[in-house]
Amino acid sequence: MVGLGVVLVIEVAPSLNLVDTWQFGRPKLGGVYLFSGEEAALVEAGTSLAAPRILAALGELGISREKVRWIFVTHVHLDHAGGAGALVRALPHAQVVVHRRGARHLADPSRLVASVRQAVGERFPLYGEAIPIPQDRLYVPEDGEVFSLGSHRLRVVDAPGHAPHHLCFFEETKGLLFTGDAAGLYLNGKLVPATVPPSFDLELSLATLEHLSSLAPKALCYTHFGPRPGAAGLREYAELLPRWLELVRKAWESGGRDEEATVKALLERLAQEDWPVDDPLLREDIAMSARGALLYLRRQEAERA
Ligand SMILES: [Zn+2]
Repeated sequence: MVGLGVVLVIEVAPSLNLVDTWQFGRPKLGGVYLFSGEEAALVEAGTSLAAPRILAALGELGISREKVRWIFVTHVHLDHAGGAGALVRALPHAQVVVHRRGARHLADPSRLVASVRQAVGERFPLYGEAIPIPQDRLYVPEDGEVFSLGSHRLRVVDAPGHAPHHLCFFEETKGLLFTGDAAGLYLNGKLVPATVPPSFDLELSLATLEHLSSLAPKALCYTHFGPRPGAAGLREYAELLPRWLELVRKAWESGGRDEEATVKALLERLAQEDWPVDDPLLREDIAMSARGALLYLRRQEAERA
């Protein structure tokens, strides 16, 4: 038995809290937002290893499990939706709101799990087990659909780029934008690219960031990790992405067009530029984003050829 330790719940706004899920066993790396009004709801589910912590947070906030109506997942990657199956078993009235292109992967997670296993190697056990979700517990929303959550209104925003099955959610009354991975990772005050394999797309990401900016959010609520006032992070990420792709492209060319050599050269370069690559976990994340960026560049190259 692993103890939960302290369940960290941070108030973001009235009746909106952030639960630190201790993703990969670490604080402030992954979060789940919790609306605690009459219609309780979660934004994100974390991995299945996060479920006990989320349920404990519900208890701590005095929200009965019957009251949780929705689990909004930004996309189906396991650190966002892997725990949704475990949660719907524990939350009898909850439905999982998921992008039309992601729903079948939650109904049958086998392909998703296989692709994560391939992408993350020995880190795989940290992603927990993904339990299939029965069809009647899945809900595919329209782009722009609005959900009433007590005093909050949450609007669905199609947000492809990080993945084709990515949604953002915009809380209209307070102007809070739940960015998932569409606006990168925001860790310890630093923006880190989230350009993981297999389907990162630069043009779609930039178009999404422009669309998100047009909503004029008052704060960005990152899954990784936490709320950040203002909308400047959207523009910063739109500037970071092309620079990042350029770094990866240069490393690819100087690394003799070999993937491992490219990642190694890139990490060395980033260490000199003060990126958080001496942290083993972030180093792995950044290496994974480098692989995704490389895949995108090679796809572009193949299309031009
Ligand atoms: Zn993520």
